[in-house]
Amino acid sequence: MPSPPDDCLFCSIVRQGTYVRKANGFVAIEDINPHAEVHLLIIPERHVDSFREISEFPAREAKRMLEFVADTARQAGLTDYRVQVNVGASAGQTVFHLHWHVLGGRTSADMPTKTETAVEVM
Ligand code: AMP
Ligand code: ZN
Repeated sequence: MPSPPDDCLFCSIVRQGTYVRKANGFVAIEDINPHAEVHLLIIPERHVDSFREISEFPAREAKRMLEFVADTARQAGLTDYRVQVNVGASAGQTVFHLHWHVLGGRTSADMPTKTETAVEVM
């Protein structure tokens, strides 16, 4: 199996980041640029570049990863939410270490902008 690139952002977050949750080889972090009220990223400690390489996970680990996604959403208080994986640059993937987006609550399109919030306050 190829070793992960030295400069992988999510490998370094896995090593030294601040997590919302961590268990069994997976971490959950808050997305730095949220697209919804709750926007979490689920990151496996094992580096694979993208969902295309999902077969590199043993079946039990792949199942635990999906359970970790569901458990993290539940612990964040979400019952209804979206799970998204961008696969490849032209599909929007910008960090090439597999991760799952969990998006819940209002999306950024529905959320007031800073200007609108300022007007509401006045
Ligand atoms: P994707 O575009 O599907 O590869 O998702 C990568 C996500 O990582 C984007 O939603 C970014 O906002 C998020 N992101 C990038 N850098 C960080 C960081 N240092 N901490 C948390 N989230 C990040
Ligand atoms: Zn990595």
